[in-house]
Amino acid sequence: MSRRPFIVPVFIPHAGCPHRCVFCNQSAVTGSAQPTPTPAELRGRVAAFLKFRSRRREGSQIAFFGGNFLGVAPETLEELLAEAAGFVAAGTVDGIRFSTRPDTVTPARLRLIEPFPVRAVELGVQSMDPEVLARSQRGHTPEHTADATRLLKGRGYAVGHQLMVGLPADTEESLLATGRRVIALKPDFIRIYPTLVLPGTPLEEWYRRGLYSPLTLAAAVGLTLKLYRLFQAHAIPVIRMGLQAGEGLQPRQGDGAGPYHPAFGHLVLCAAFRDAVRGALGSFRPPGPILRLHVHPRSISRLRGLNNTTIEEIQERFGYTQVAVCAEPAFAPDLVGVGGTERVVSTITGPF
Ligand code: SF4
Repeated sequence: MSRRPFIVPVFIPHAGCPHRCVFCNQSAVTGSAQPTPTPAELRGRVAAFLKFRSRRREGSQIAFFGGNFLGVAPETLEELLAEAAGFVAAGTVDGIRFSTRPDTVTPARLRLIEPFPVRAVELGVQSMDPEVLARSQRGHTPEHTADATRLLKGRGYAVGHQLMVGLPADTEESLLATGRRVIALKPDFIRIYPTLVLPGTPLEEWYRRGLYSPLTLAAAVGLTLKLYRLFQAHAIPVIRMGLQAGEGLQPRQGDGAGPYHPAFGHLVLCAAFRDAVRGALGSFRPPGPILRLHVHPRSISRLRGLNNTTIEEIQERFGYTQVAVCAEPAFAPDLVGVGGTERVVSTITGPF
């Protein structure tokens, strides 16, 4: 059974946003232009989506995404939450979650949502670097994120942090400093998104004028992997890397520029396995023409790499005639045995 809840997404593009951040065009990402559904529309959408629920999922949550939920007018907020709460009261779903800006998390706003079965709140943190936030015209500071996290955790909500790689003025150093500041706030989970150049955004204008260069896909994958390792090493789950396939959160074909890939998160995990194997073979080369790599069955495709690229690269680079991948159910999913089950390396802590 999957431990992740089944998410019923309700997109509220730009609802409650005080302004547009430079990278954001939710209509391009979600394909929807209507900011908030009416209660009847919400009822219909949730009921329709619930038909796709797999029995193997542990629970389900109605999730308001794509806007600044706590910035929505109080009467609309209460209307939406009351409608969603009806599904919880009926036992059809287990709770509600939403994403919001850190600077709209205030005691007054939290009093509004208190009567409703909200389980998790995701903060659009993006960065903890003041300069990066200012260049993205976020309109909030790292202190807002710290305060919001404390307020939410103090009221018992699960708190998620959404981070971005490749924002204007961000560097590897400032990104990893963001990671460390986030870890100190102890969020319950993390999402990491690459910055894309979406149509109709200031970032697109900067891109056209040569004022912003998006990361290459390889660079975005590499930076995301560094953040991922940081959070994994501190036991903070990274529940998503890249935009959300299957939940509508993908740019339309041919839209914009930047490091978009439909399987971005998978690419990051493939890079983790590739680096670990390369690192291990740098100091220890199992003899013979065949290299055996052992992994948990769930990690086989991550070890192989997209279209078997990692296996082919390892074979060629290290001079083996064959690389055999062996399933090792006793292994944790982040481990790989190189040349057997004696030499086991971690894809989180190295060697790299
Ligand atoms: S990033 Fe969030 S706050 Fe900024 S415009 Fe987009 S939805 Fe609104």
